[in-house]
Amino acid sequence: LWSNVEMGPPDAILGVTEAFKKDTNPNKINLGVGAYRDDNNKPFVLPSVRKAEAIMTSKALDKEYAPISGSAEFCHAAISLAFGEGSSVLQEGRNATVQGISGTGSLRIGSAFLAKFFPIKTVWFPSPTWGNHVPIFKHVGMEVKQYRYYDPKTCGFDFNGAMEDFKNMPDGSLVLLHACAHNPTGVDPNPEQWQAMSDLLKSKKALPFFDMAYQGFASGSVDKDAFAVRKFLDDGHNILLAQSFAKNMGLYGERAGAFTVVCSDKDGAARVMSQIKILIRPLYSNPPINGARIVSTILSDAALRSEWLTDVKGMADRIISMRTQLRANLEKEGSTRNWSHITDQIGMFCFTGMTPAQVEKLTKEFSVYLTKDGRISMAGITSANVAYLAKGMHAVTK
Ligand code: PMP
Repeated sequence: LWSNVEMGPPDAILGVTEAFKKDTNPNKINLGVGAYRDDNNKPFVLPSVRKAEAIMTSKALDKEYAPISGSAEFCHAAISLAFGEGSSVLQEGRNATVQGISGTGSLRIGSAFLAKFFPIKTVWFPSPTWGNHVPIFKHVGMEVKQYRYYDPKTCGFDFNGAMEDFKNMPDGSLVLLHACAHNPTGVDPNPEQWQAMSDLLKSKKALPFFDMAYQGFASGSVDKDAFAVRKFLDDGHNILLAQSFAKNMGLYGERAGAFTVVCSDKDGAARVMSQIKILIRPLYSNPPINGARIVSTILSDAALRSEWLTDVKGMADRIISMRTQLRANLEKEGSTRNWSHITDQIGMFCFTGMTPAQVEKLTKEFSVYLTKDGRISMAGITSANVAYLAKGMHAVTK
């Protein structure tokens, strides 16, 4: 038995960390990880999260099962954060929201719902997109297509390319959009470009599915980072949304997330909700309770919520400051290349524009570890290693 099971390839990103661990160079840097690190390169538990945990402990809560759709309090808190407190969708009860197993699980439920109920079995992703998007939708048998997104010439957004590809898509297509802090490129459309995309996708009767894994983490403001999602709602799109609290609350291993379908009316939302529950039940019965409790404890307490907003802004600001310092250090090294994209891009990741050969050299000669596409995790950069990193990047790109 199992003799016909072939060895599968290792995960591309986890492989980077494995190689990093084996390196004995004291100056080595791991820029592969997609998790926040503080300026001492240590994992960071948000002070607001520690406080929420203390409140939860003091209540001596039970460990009973959550409902299939998860904690109702959590779902309400999560979707209000995304859509805004005054959202008309929420007032009209047009949302079907369930707790998912972080962002990945929420996308996975979304893909299962679409595969069963959406008439077109094709999804359009930006090129490139988060590595897990493709297998998530392939698992449910959907076909994957890509629209132009990243322009290697400018290390920025290929707005004209994306618009042209939207125009040429069949009407009624399913389009996945990164709400903010696009992974892996760090390149986001500006508000005018979002507006044009919303108008065009509306005229094409497209179904937008937003993946929001970084609300607050990108700019430091949860409202600013929700701009695109709220704009599309205002423009009358009945969107789908996957949310994650891994990054903005540092709850990576807690697996707290949410999946939402916006419907035309309350009755539609109730019908959609019933079907999502039927999909979830045989997958995992019901979601974990602890992370959801942390999230709802924070979001429902005005003082704690405002502390959390300060914590998120602190993380976003450290990353923005590392972008400025990396660019300044490259210029100090004498690099004549244009590195403005380092400070123009946003969020956890930066697409440096380095070629696979340059990446290989940087790893070999400087013990700097990153994926071959030239993506670096800004969270791995600190005041102590930014100068060394700039020296290495300059050496391999001059
Ligand atoms: N979507 C995107 C674009 C992401 O970058 C991530 C995190 N790497 C996720 C979803 C989901 O992550 P998680 O399942 O840990 O919430």
